[in-house]
Amino acid sequence: MQQNLLDLDAHALTAYLAEMGEKPFRAKQLLRWIYQAGESDFSAMTDIAAALREKLSNCASITVPDILREELSDDGTRKWLLHVGTGNAVEAVYIPEESRGTLCISSQAGCALDCAFCSTGKQGFNRNLSVAEIIGQLWWANHRLGKNAEGNWAISNVVMMGMGEPLLNYANTVSALRLMLDDQSYGLSRRRVTVSTSGIVPAMDRLREECPVALAVSLHAPNDALRNVLVPINQKYPLKELLAACTRYLERAPRDFITFEYVMLDGVNDSVQQARELAELVSDVPCKFNLIPFNPFPNSPYKRSRLEAIARFKEVLMRADIITTTRKTRGDDIAAACGQLAGQVLDKTRRTSAVAER
Ligand code: SAH
Ligand code: SF4
Repeated sequence: MQQNLLDLDAHALTAYLAEMGEKPFRAKQLLRWIYQAGESDFSAMTDIAAALREKLSNCASITVPDILREELSDDGTRKWLLHVGTGNAVEAVYIPEESRGTLCISSQAGCALDCAFCSTGKQGFNRNLSVAEIIGQLWWANHRLGKNAEGNWAISNVVMMGMGEPLLNYANTVSALRLMLDDQSYGLSRRRVTVSTSGIVPAMDRLREECPVALAVSLHAPNDALRNVLVPINQKYPLKELLAACTRYLERAPRDFITFEYVMLDGVNDSVQQARELAELVSDVPCKFNLIPFNPFPNSPYKRSRLEAIARFKEVLMRADIITTTRKTRGDDIAAACGQLAGQVLDKTRRTSAVAER
């Protein structure tokens, strides 16, 4: 079977080439071609010996996932639907801003964690994405958007906030992160790459040791009773343990704060009292809050908080000296917001039909 080189980070690529009797610098050359030049054709890699190119084209490939659909929003947001095998598709979203271009990428086809307000969760879990399928989202986005006048790719920041729980696809996520960070490939700074997690405590500790990047944690509730309902993984890793893991993470994080994400659900988690409880809860963790107005989807039991409720909630946190932003809803016309990245997943748990039948 052919080896897809996009599945290999620098370490694995060096090992793969060593088995072919090739020196480590060949791995560096290949990484630069694939990621810095965006090349997927071995014959174009002119500084690599013809014999090696020939060998590679026989036993290896550079295969990115196919794009099924590309959508462009009025505000410049773009969304790609990528084919990841029979019946499965995941989404990646590009959000242009004045000083940066952010790509939001997916880590799994579906998600097993079933958060109450998340359309990916409601689809159930199908499978982990491969390294190639994760890094391929970035490869495609750069390929489609091109380089700027300074010769840099359009994507300067990556957030793993698309479909799936990245820390439950740990090994492939870390290999893909390394390809984002490696100077021979995309060379992004650790501060510009963010993993978002619902709070998989042991994997947060591993990430801190093995590949510390910026961390966003999906909090969504000020106490265990409510979080157990909204984010069921809380029953396994409750708030006390989660917040302790956040503090440990900061010892090695590239930023000196954790970003807490908090989806604003009307009448569920958005009262002033709950904001106070939340400020008290996180008082020992250097953090910023990102309030995400809930994005509704068919059959969801929740409503988006009213604007005044979001403003009041923010006010309470700010008074407690916590920097708080409210996420702008972008790409509304192409359903490109958080939790709306529905893609298309063959649900092995049949959860989708259970929801539809309700
Ligand atoms: N599994 C990871 C990363 C993907 S979800 C996590 O849960 O953190 C990225 C963010 O979108 C999370 O904060 C998630 O809670 C939020 N989200 C999910 N569904 C949403 C919805 N319908 N509206 C607003 N935010 C949502
Ligand atoms: Fe999974 Fe994140 Fe959605 Fe929860 S919010 S179901 S962890 S993708």
